[in-house]
Amino acid sequence: MDKVNILGINVDNVDMAQATRRAEKMLEESGVSTVYTPNSEIILYASENEEYRDVINKADMVIPDGIGVVYGAKILGHPLPERVAGYDLACEILKSMAKTGKRVYLLGAKPGVAETAAKNISEKYKGIEIAGTHDGYFSDDEEVIESINAANADFLMVCLGFPKQEKWIDKNKDKLNVRLAIGAGGCLDVFAGNVMRAPDFYCRHGIEWLYRLVKQPSRFVRMLALPKFGLKVIFKGRRYK
Ligand code: UDP
Repeated sequence: MDKVNILGINVDNVDMAQATRRAEKMLEESGVSTVYTPNSEIILYASENEEYRDVINKADMVIPDGIGVVYGAKILGHPLPERVAGYDLACEILKSMAKTGKRVYLLGAKPGVAETAAKNISEKYKGIEIAGTHDGYFSDDEEVIESINAANADFLMVCLGFPKQEKWIDKNKDKLNVRLAIGAGGCLDVFAGNVMRAPDFYCRHGIEWLYRLVKQPSRFVRMLALPKFGLKVIFKGRRYK
């Protein structure tokens, strides 16, 4: 099976290596390909919001960014190979782009964050070209689109948080001159070093959410989406097929 339907969202049945290969191919193709990275909070929201659900389902690839999504698929009887975190996929794409000298544009986060992320990315992935950066607090889409198009970027990371980033990509896709646009949530904060990724132990044991909860207790309310998502999958999941 190519896709797994989780509460109405079609998630691609891919592991990290396959997702990376597909993204690399997208970078070589004409037109704008889109990749979204929903975790269980995003899928729960999409399951309750038809317009947003349609946006996600239009993507060229939807990866399972969260252990909740992997468990959800398993409960529904269509196991996914592994969690494919948006941040990890972004790292793989940047690593691959560094070899070919491709150009990345970083859009999102608070003023100054994208610039710091750009500096760190160019140090970590030597050979990559930073095409440009823009913070995520703007009101004029056209000005941002012009900046992106003038920068001649291959890869556009849109980090405006959900549902804004996916809606923004969907609305402006046809005006953008990039090969691949990804909705990547808080990735720029991580690349900038403002937010720490959970240590390997937490990721391997599927408890990255616990690490984030301890580090950012203000996310508690948002995290209630995880048990709600689990219950919805258990009691209503099959109706969505
Ligand atoms: N953000 C933005 N513009 C907005 C709202 C949010 O650029 O109008 C940024 C925010 O500063 C943060 C990111 O979007 O860098 C969302 O991060 P969050 O940790 O919520 O994303 P997650 O990865 O959890 O979806």
